[in-house]
Amino acid sequence: MTIDGPRLVAVSNRLPIKIVKDREGWHVQPGAGGLVTALAPVLKNRRGIWIGWSGGSEEAVLSELLAQASKMSGYDLYPVFLSADEVHGYYYGFSNEIIWPLFHDLQTRCNFCPAYWYEYLRVNRKFAEVISRTIGPEDFIWIHDYHLFSCASFLRDIGVENKIGFFLHIPFPPLDIFVKLPWRSQVIEALLKYDLIGFQTRRDRRHFLDCVHRFFPEIRLLGRGTIVRLDTGDREIRVGTFPISIDFASFEADAGSKQVADCAWFLHEKLPDRQVILGIDRLDYTKGIPERFRSFRLALKRYPELCTKVSLVQVVVPSREEVGEYRRLKAEIEQLVGAINGEFTTSGWIPIHYLYKSLSRRDLLAYYRLAEIALVTPLKDGMNLVCKEYCACNLEGNGVLILSEFAGAAAQLKNGAVLVNPYDEEGVSEAIYNSFCMDVEERKRRMLKMRNQIRRRDIFWWVNTFLQAAFSRDLAAFQEVEEDYEGFFY
Ligand code: UDP
Repeated sequence: MTIDGPRLVAVSNRLPIKIVKDREGWHVQPGAGGLVTALAPVLKNRRGIWIGWSGGSEEAVLSELLAQASKMSGYDLYPVFLSADEVHGYYYGFSNEIIWPLFHDLQTRCNFCPAYWYEYLRVNRKFAEVISRTIGPEDFIWIHDYHLFSCASFLRDIGVENKIGFFLHIPFPPLDIFVKLPWRSQVIEALLKYDLIGFQTRRDRRHFLDCVHRFFPEIRLLGRGTIVRLDTGDREIRVGTFPISIDFASFEADAGSKQVADCAWFLHEKLPDRQVILGIDRLDYTKGIPERFRSFRLALKRYPELCTKVSLVQVVVPSREEVGEYRRLKAEIEQLVGAINGEFTTSGWIPIHYLYKSLSRRDLLAYYRLAEIALVTPLKDGMNLVCKEYCACNLEGNGVLILSEFAGAAAQLKNGAVLVNPYDEEGVSEAIYNSFCMDVEERKRRMLKMRNQIRRRDIFWWVNTFLQAAFSRDLAAFQEVEEDYEGFFY
């Protein structure tokens, strides 16, 4: 890491570990995923700390497991214990039934139950208390995501004066959607207690700044570029854009391994003489899976030459199955798969191959490698890492990425991806057909642009840039994230 300096304290809803129970008892496994990969080296180098909810394990079991996990990872893990009521109100309630749909522009799915807000505040206070007991005076506290908007506010109440950063992993909605939130000014006020606030795209930051201006018109906006400042009269807050990314080098290297190559070859052999279109998504209504299937159905109707020449492989990773809305979504997806396959299947060809499971890393990378087209059409997404992982694994460079213009990644990948409006069935079906027909030179030209962009702005760049933004004296020296659109959408 290029940053020297104070110890880092990372805080997120969940600790970056998995606790599993088998016949021999409880075990702890290190968490996977981009954020852990990126923060682990910084935390190790600086003897850092990660604080988060332990995920419902018993306290006695957990302290032993966390000691093991801390040894394994090279930094300390501190749990926040939550009762069932707290999890219900703060996590399932406020975070998942209010903020998640609202911030993805789906306000009709919100359940603005007042009790959720009070539980959310109580749990944020609890996090603040654990943090304040754990930190030293020089530590930099980096709080992640929408579960913890109010954490800095409680830390300030307790008297913590450390520098505190916040990164929002999901989108920030436009003003006229945000104002539906009954606790709108409290949330903005709480965010203004941070020293640095980071968003995925300029669009998200612009929406946030519009809200600040609406609720606190006396606050002045200073500067321009990647990092701007808000002057409240007695302090300055930095607000920046930091598009999150992946460990490009490791995806590229692993995709080139013999195990992945063999697996990709084996899987494509089962789908011969056709282009594979790949969709990989967590089960979530923001991912636009039914809308995607309807577009695919229209493509098969309008362009019959696609029949037998493409197969859509759709992987849905189980998520939040205890929530009714997610169960209903699963049923809708499965009904559509059945209907489309029932309508178009011919002897030896099935249009949609549907997998409802979590893939091993080898299988995931093999699917990325073998797919001629990736179909990534969320209705709205903070960033979307699947599309970046697909590009990193596309070693031959001849894959086509069809990408929703409402995914944060569209701002960076606009020059290489085929951008679509996921609500526009005709537009997406046309994009599928055009991608199918795209010649190899154009595919390679587009993919090269995207791969270069993701390689340059990888997850390590993201961590470094955020930490530099927190500590740098000279903001003018900050590079522009020049790939961002200045246009309406981005
Ligand atoms: N992924 C996974 N298991 C799978 C398939 C995918 O863990 O079986 C990962 C994938 O590699 C990616 C993440 O899930 O890193 C999805 O991230 P994304 O930003 O696209 O969407 P999110 O689920 O965070 O909304």
